[in-house]
Amino acid sequence: MQNIIFIAPPAAGKGTQSHMLKEKYDYEHISTGDMLREAISNGSKLGLEVKNIMDKGELVSDDLMIDLIKDKLTKIKGKPFILDGFPRTLKQGIELDKLLDDANYQVIYLKLDKDIAIKRVEGRLTCSCGKTYNIFDQKLQPKQNGICDKCGKQLIKRNDDNVDSFKIRYDNFLTNTDKLLKYYEEKNKLNIINVDKSVDEIFNDISKVVTND
Ligand SMILES: [Zn+2]
Repeated sequence: MQNIIFIAPPAAGKGTQSHMLKEKYDYEHISTGDMLREAISNGSKLGLEVKNIMDKGELVSDDLMIDLIKDKLTKIKGKPFILDGFPRTLKQGIELDKLLDDANYQVIYLKLDKDIAIKRVEGRLTCSCGKTYNIFDQKLQPKQNGICDKCGKQLIKRNDDNVDSFKIRYDNFLTNTDKLLKYYEEKNKLNIINVDKSVDEIFNDISKVVTND
């Protein structure tokens, strides 16, 4: 099984795919967000360092992030992993390569055009019961306009789906990852998967990459 570095713009469905990979292939999902929270809650030396930085409202440095990942990789003892949320920049990618065995990972990039991404965000509706819908996706539309199929409650548009802030996040993502993706392409590590298709089709494409070892 290949280790995976997962890179995707917001709204590309990385969370769903990570979850499916974890279920089917027993991957260790290393999400940098979770990792930071975990480090803080277990009170390790690294964790305290992270806490100090975040309490001040500062960003965790690349070096510290690498230390955390190193720590985590030691703990999972060779189990295949998905790295999610890191690297985001070329500099981070180069640092990470000092840590990883070059032969042993693939980069999966979920490609989603901006206009389609925006449509996904604009069309997203959620219910307080946890079910989500999308009015622009036939398979994800509620049967009755604005009403949850499961519990009959009124559907709501989430605040964090604000389209303007989404556009900024999306553009930032592209700016940050541009050189990183080229770097992986030159190393023959980059697998681009177009995500303008169903969740199962995307998963199939990803599976082909991860089992090709
Ligand atoms: Zn509901």
